[in-house]
Amino acid sequence: MSLNFTKCFCLIVIGILFISVAGAQKNIYPLDKGYILERDLYSKMLKIQEINPEIVKLHILGFSGTEELPIYGLEIGYSSAGKKVLMIGQHHSDEVLGVEIVVSWAEKLVKEAESDKKIKALLHQYKFWIVPTINPEGYRVFTEGLYRYKRKNNRDTNQNNKLELQWDGVDLNRNYPVFWDEDSTLPPTHRYYKGDTPASEPEVQAIISLAQKHHFDFAIFYHSSSTGAYSEKIFLPYLDEENENQKRIYEETLEFAQKFAENLKKDYLPGKYEVSMATSSRVGNARNYFFHIHNTRAILIEVGGIDKKSKSIIYPSARMKDKIVKKHIAALEKVFYESLE
Ligand SMILES: [Zn+2]
Repeated sequence: MSLNFTKCFCLIVIGILFISVAGAQKNIYPLDKGYILERDLYSKMLKIQEINPEIVKLHILGFSGTEELPIYGLEIGYSSAGKKVLMIGQHHSDEVLGVEIVVSWAEKLVKEAESDKKIKALLHQYKFWIVPTINPEGYRVFTEGLYRYKRKNNRDTNQNNKLELQWDGVDLNRNYPVFWDEDSTLPPTHRYYKGDTPASEPEVQAIISLAQKHHFDFAIFYHSSSTGAYSEKIFLPYLDEENENQKRIYEETLEFAQKFAENLKKDYLPGKYEVSMATSSRVGNARNYFFHIHNTRAILIEVGGIDKKSKSIIYPSARMKDKIVKKHIAALEKVFYESLE
């Protein structure tokens, strides 16, 4: 009797362990509980501001083009801070890990500003501008569980007065007004559709006007690779080899990227993140725009791993998500603490 009970108990424990490990190894959709939903973003932003309103300002940077959803930005730091860092958690709807990372970083900065000496010093040196998503429409669709392959915003690009989640929208990270003409012209229903004209999208215009108002020294754009081809890599902007001044800033950008890579272990495979040294494409993405137009040291970090079968996991169980976020927060601490003057 008692042997049977022990056997049974063991099997249950093994079963639970198996389920939790398996859960960490795959994408879960609709999202696991514990992810931030688009409809909860505003209250989340307000809560962060309320922790310490003296060092946090909540801004509405603009509105999305179709549903007029607000694009939030948290400005965090003491008024004496001279340098500026921009962090954008999301351009593409299904890439939600970046939202989690930047919101968690914002919370940490604000909660620990008075109690932690290093955080305090950091916020005297840097103003952090934290934008969880510039694509609230796509984020809404994805986090409401409506369509798991959503990438773009909800612009009615095939102009039939219907929102078609699989076809409609502009790829916001191909709509920035730099090298836009050089990117391939794809049909409006394509996943990578760059829009009709450069900066046609109000979401991108909101970021451009932010960039024009503030000189950002550093910018970090978080993405996740849905194919897994770019997972756990860090990407630099395109470099114009002829431009001597640009080379210097590029070197600093590379150094910035390398520091992150050194401090970030991969999620599912052994080893650390890698800085991609392949030439970056001349397309209208955020890092090219910030680097070429505003001399910002701008990098893209692809969060979310691939498993042993090279399958991409970009929205895992909440438990795995928390582990990933924790790791990225630790890397942010390391990189920015080292830069304290
Ligand atoms: Zn992306």
